[in-house]
Amino acid sequence: MILKDEAIALRIHPFGNTSRIVVWLSRTHGKLATLAKGSQRERSGFLGQYDLFYTCELLFYAREQRNLHILKECCPVEMRPAFRTDWRACAAASYAAGALDRAMPFGPAPAALHDLLKDTLDRLAARTPGPAFLPRFELRLLQELGLSPGWDACARCRADLRGSSARLDVAHGAVRCEACAGGQGALVSAAALEAIRRMRGETLPASLPERVFREVRTIMGGLLEHHADFSPRSREVAFQVLAAG
Ligand SMILES: [Zn+2]
Repeated sequence: MILKDEAIALRIHPFGNTSRIVVWLSRTHGKLATLAKGSQRERSGFLGQYDLFYTCELLFYAREQRNLHILKECCPVEMRPAFRTDWRACAAASYAAGALDRAMPFGPAPAALHDLLKDTLDRLAARTPGPAFLPRFELRLLQELGLSPGWDACARCRADLRGSSARLDVAHGAVRCEACAGGQGALVSAAALEAIRRMRGETLPASLPERVFREVRTIMGGLLEHHADFSPRSREVAFQVLAAG
């Protein structure tokens, strides 16, 4: 069966001397791997048609019983050339694509995960953002994976948490009011809760006070570490390069 999809290249591996395996996050078929046969040959029709973080239109032979499909045609839709010259944006793009890659198994996935990565890469390619960009990406990733706690009300008594501090139970992914938590869990300040609530909106907060930023970064890191198989080292690098601007 030949399928068509729009997909973002997450990873590229050599396969033999002249072929490549490309791992994609596609809009309608989730995460998939394709074999680009002979793509490194001089006259290959694949030359220049795909690269890391490109969005491409794909035609591929789907092999139902296999995880590796055969790429038939590939045409770039969005090449995001900024990643060739802006190393800071490229490091952040690597982290974002890698985080999705590690958090997702091969197979179908909600289109929202593709759209989150597309939006993240487009923004990074347009303009290197400030450090608050990454915690917001992580918050949205946790939400789309269904791993984000509720930030508005206590997970136990449903008390409104606005204006007060709370406790985060990382292992259960739950935020509770101080009374219900009984001192258990990591303290989350009212300011950090408010910042997280604002980060869920369409527009990125212009800036966060350093103390709040650090707190939010720690909260997201704890949740990702516990619930998604992510790499703390590449995360550290991505945060450092964005902070360096
Ligand atoms: Zn409560």
